[in-house]
Amino acid sequence: MSADPIQRIVDEIDRAADEIVRFTADLVRIPTVNPPGADYEPCARLLGDSLARRGFDVEYIVATERPEHTLRHPRVNVIGTRRGDARGAVVHLNGHIDVVPAGDGWTVDPFGGLVRDGKIFGRGVCDMKAGIAAAVFAAEAIQRAGVHVPGTIEISGTVDEESGGFAGVAWLCKSGRIARTRTDYVIIPEPLNVDRICVGHRGVYWSELTTRGRVAHGSMPFLGVSAIDAMTEVLAAIRRELLPVLESRVTTMPVVPAGARHATINVNAIDGGQPLDGIQTPCVADRCRAIFDRRFLIEEGFAAAKDELEALIRRTLGATGVEYELRDLMVVDPVLTPQDSPVVRALDGAIRRVLGTAPTVIASPGTYDHKHVARIAGIPHCVAYGPGELELAHQPDEYCRVEDLINATKVLALATLDLMSRAID
Ligand SMILES: [Zn+2]
Repeated sequence: MSADPIQRIVDEIDRAADEIVRFTADLVRIPTVNPPGADYEPCARLLGDSLARRGFDVEYIVATERPEHTLRHPRVNVIGTRRGDARGAVVHLNGHIDVVPAGDGWTVDPFGGLVRDGKIFGRGVCDMKAGIAAAVFAAEAIQRAGVHVPGTIEISGTVDEESGGFAGVAWLCKSGRIARTRTDYVIIPEPLNVDRICVGHRGVYWSELTTRGRVAHGSMPFLGVSAIDAMTEVLAAIRRELLPVLESRVTTMPVVPAGARHATINVNAIDGGQPLDGIQTPCVADRCRAIFDRRFLIEEGFAAAKDELEALIRRTLGATGVEYELRDLMVVDPVLTPQDSPVVRALDGAIRRVLGTAPTVIASPGTYDHKHVARIAGIPHCVAYGPGELELAHQPDEYCRVEDLINATKVLALATLDLMSRAID
């Protein structure tokens, strides 16, 4: 047995490699598909039972007041707590247990938990059941190594991240279970590659534009006002006027891929006139709706992004006499953890030790549960770090390399140990 506690932890993780792979595959075999939010309870129980066996106090927190919680698809979250030295910090490792639907194109069973050629296959294995297994065995290795545990480790499995996390992490933050007063550091083992630390994400502004025209006989369209034509004017103006401006803006946040370092807008959906599959009658469309997904930069801010879109629509439709309405559907402000945060420094040190390379600090193009930790719980020290490649998430034949899983487990263990022993400000 090595005299160096860090080496003992690393050795324990190498010894546990088969167990870690098996636990990951067991999680994958529970098809926690969202929507609709299937099998959350058995998956939360599998994680909770595993934590209980490892000396954690386990709580199940059900988001009973959320509309998406139903008897058929209960929103069951699980948290385990293992207390060491009460003077140390509380480190919370959070993973979402939900996975997106398998979709087409698989050559293996998406819920079979197949392990082949050094890879574990399955829907949600990289996003992010491997990350949950890494968190569990990071804590377990600290225990097995017999080192002094300088603080408290919490591990949670939460629901619905893929659909916004309102019954999951947001619920735990709203109920005060994850809070600035009791939680010092949060690491979310999302699949962002084993040598990258993710410090935040851009903002999200979803809106719905409705244009209202005037119905007329389709043989005499000049007697009506087409809501679809009005919408196409707006879409054209977005392409002609807004896109070049958005493209010219670059954030200082280290967003990857580089294309997402700019502000962007996407048309999510469009619907107008008569139902496409219904019987058609000759009518000018008196109604059209589109949904916009605008990703704004921390330097822009929400108010300016919204004003800009509103002004463009006003300029385009103002003189036409077409009535319109712009409605906000969802706003998520950007989040950014400072690069000198202890949680970044602890992971940086652990990555150097385990991988022998300097990590890359990145920000995510899309949003994840970090927003709830930052905005609702008010915890400044939160990052995402975990095994698996971001590009494989939500793809057919999703897999996680066993080597990445083991390395990420080591990094999480060393970073957690380091953070627990840090003085709390
Ligand atoms: Zn995820």
